[in-house]
Amino acid sequence: MDYRPAAVAPQTGAVTAEARDLLVIGGGPAGAATAIRAAEAGARVTVFEKGLPGRDKVCGDGLTPRAVKALGELGVDLSDAHRIDGLRMVANRTVRQLEWPGIPPFPPHGAVWPRRRLDARLMELAEKAGAELRWGQEALPSLDDAGRVVGVEADGQRFTAPMVVVAAGAPGAVARLLGAERVADEPFGLAIRTYAESPRHAERYLEACLTLRDEHGTPVPGYGWMFPAGDGTVNIGVGALSTMKGFSKLNLNRLQDSYRALVQDDWELGPDLERPRAWRLPMSARRRHGPGWVAVGDAAGLVNPMNGEGIDYGLESGMLAADLFLSDPTGAPARYDREVGARFDGFLRTGRRFSFLIGHPWILRTGLRFAVGTQGIANVTLQVMGNLVDGSTPGVGGLTMRAADAVLGVADPVLRRTRAAA
Ligand SMILES: Cc1cc2nc3c(=O)[nH]c(=O)nc-3n(C[C@H](O)[C@H](O)[C@H](O)COP(=O)(O)OP(=O)(O)OC[C@H]3O[C@@H](n4cnc5c(N)ncnc54)[C@H](O)[C@@H]3O)c2cc1C
Repeated sequence: MDYRPAAVAPQTGAVTAEARDLLVIGGGPAGAATAIRAAEAGARVTVFEKGLPGRDKVCGDGLTPRAVKALGELGVDLSDAHRIDGLRMVANRTVRQLEWPGIPPFPPHGAVWPRRRLDARLMELAEKAGAELRWGQEALPSLDDAGRVVGVEADGQRFTAPMVVVAAGAPGAVARLLGAERVADEPFGLAIRTYAESPRHAERYLEACLTLRDEHGTPVPGYGWMFPAGDGTVNIGVGALSTMKGFSKLNLNRLQDSYRALVQDDWELGPDLERPRAWRLPMSARRRHGPGWVAVGDAAGLVNPMNGEGIDYGLESGMLAADLFLSDPTGAPARYDREVGARFDGFLRTGRRFSFLIGHPWILRTGLRFAVGTQGIANVTLQVMGNLVDGSTPGVGGLTMRAADAVLGVADPVLRRTRAAA
């Protein structure tokens, strides 16, 4: 698709503004994907990234087959990533080693790609496609009197464009300006991670421990992970959902320590290579579009509540926003909201309901026993959690998705009412 600018963008205020076709706030996977796609079609794109080149993002670095497919659509060469064939689920003494299913259109493998390298690669591709990268510049949207976003301001300079893409990650200053914070009574996640050397760094399976307990013995809805990066190190971390009892007092550092102690010997872990760092996983947004703007990735609350993955959703929503902009800049925000909703809202809603469900310790314990009870059921669990099936997929995976939608939909009001007190 080739982009032809429709009109010269308006100038705002007394200071002369520089005109672009598309302005992107944030240079993570969502912003970079938007920029690659739009710049390749000939649009004049500027990406503002407040970090400096080589910046890191706190992440598990895990790419599901869905994310691998999205990277393929962007033309990203994965030879720098460590290929992953499946997942080892650990629940107390039960261990299930599962292969990624290879259900079309997704490949039968995922990857681990440390974010410092993945994000640098994506930004390089954006630049190669013709996007202008402004590192070390924090941008804020500029609104006109009618509340329409007409551009951004960064480093005392003004830029205008028919559309601004908010790819700024978990809600902060930009979201507050646009009323796009997370929905207060919807769940969210918190997770922490570090790296350590391990002789098992080249293994081809992610490992997830589903039976974490906090220091008071409360079962944690979430998991601890060992993601082998293939470069001598593993990414080790833990994540938890806000639906758990005592979440506001949960000490992630202690949870990380206790998980580390659990896996230390099996993985022959070396010392932490950096201080463990934590960050938020937004799973909802009050708004993800408005006149002159759309939000993509974490900024739009697009994180899978069932496993905490957000890279794929960032890539997919970024590409979608760019494609819609290229075909109709004016109508793009409203169309984006509809189309991103059609692709993800049903699944994410089911995921949020699921997270209320497993916030109940008894249900979590019983459900886990069932989810990993047999190899067959564990395989379906993997397909559903990885968002590799939907209600229309033939077979048990699709059937499970339809049943989960229906049952969780009915149970949701009760689950929310009886949610574990924070
Ligand atoms: C501990 C942890 C583990 C995780 N593990 C996984 C995993 O294994 N797999 C997975 O798929 N997902 C994982 N996630 C989620 C994943 O990290 C995010 O979903 C993903 O980074 C979202 O990409 P994004 O581009 O939307 O946002 P980000 O990657 O957060 O990028 C946003 C960028 O915007 C920049 N920015 C913010 N505000 C401004 C501003 N005003 N001006 C300019 N720049 C700005 C920031 O510096 C940042 O670089 C994990 C998250 C956490 C916290």
